[in-house]
Amino acid sequence: MSAIPQPLIELSQIRKVFRTSHGALTAVDSIDLIVERGSTIGLVGESGSGKSTVARMLLRLLTPTSGSIRILGEDVTGWSDKKLKPVRSMLQWVSQHPAAALFPNLTVGQNIMEPMRIHGIGMAQERQRKARGLLAKVGIPQEGFHAFPHELSGGQQQRVVIARALSVDPGCVVLDEAVSSLDVSVQAQILNLLQDLQEEMNLSYLFISHNLAVIRLVCDEVAVMFLGRVVESGKTREVFDHPLHPYTKKLLAAVP
Ligand code: ADP
Ligand code: MG
Repeated sequence: MSAIPQPLIELSQIRKVFRTSHGALTAVDSIDLIVERGSTIGLVGESGSGKSTVARMLLRLLTPTSGSIRILGEDVTGWSDKKLKPVRSMLQWVSQHPAAALFPNLTVGQNIMEPMRIHGIGMAQERQRKARGLLAKVGIPQEGFHAFPHELSGGQQQRVVIARALSVDPGCVVLDEAVSSLDVSVQAQILNLLQDLQEEMNLSYLFISHNLAVIRLVCDEVAVMFLGRVVESGKTREVFDHPLHPYTKKLLAAVP
């Protein structure tokens, strides 16, 4: 038995080839990525560079063509949906469009409780208590519990999506362009909230964005993607202050 603590998530030589009507498309090519507990790792790159495909493989919503995914040292790459169920609650995601992510016919409270119901966590009363606690934690007044998603602003909806993701006590939350559709002032509020929640709950984030300023603000480490590959990675400050790859230099030069 090894005494070395295992990383929360480890992607090794992950590849994804899509079969399309035009032939094969390598969306992600031989990527290594380690997500440590409590840390924020950024994935940056232009649209189509493969960021969301990496996220979907990490979340095990998509099976890699080759390579492996380890969670706390255990290889879950070939696991069936049934076997993956407890793993899925450890990995949650928040995407760009909260209005599309929330169930429109369920109240805010029901939305937050839904993953707990699916994963069989707690009794009804307990779920309610937890959902109300999470609602407060993400900064929405209790009156919001019985509101419907369309009655909330975009920023509030994203707060509800975050509360829902946290309802199953995940280790890692994938934030795929999670603030990209919000106004700049709302973005800052959500980023502050995410940082507070991370400290409080020892969460890991895989933070995906095409916005370098946001990545710089929140990520301990960053991987720069270009055409399905990671062309550069390391401590965010080092990568941004001393970019080595021509693509990273170009990306940084484009920031106003
Ligand atoms: P990003 O998130 O960086 O914008 P994506 O991971 O969404 O990039 O996409 C990477 C590439 O893979 C793109 O060329 C995209 O068109 C392609 N792609 C993504 N999903 C599929 C799919 N299900 N079938 C075929 N091609 C796909
Ligand atoms: Mg994407």
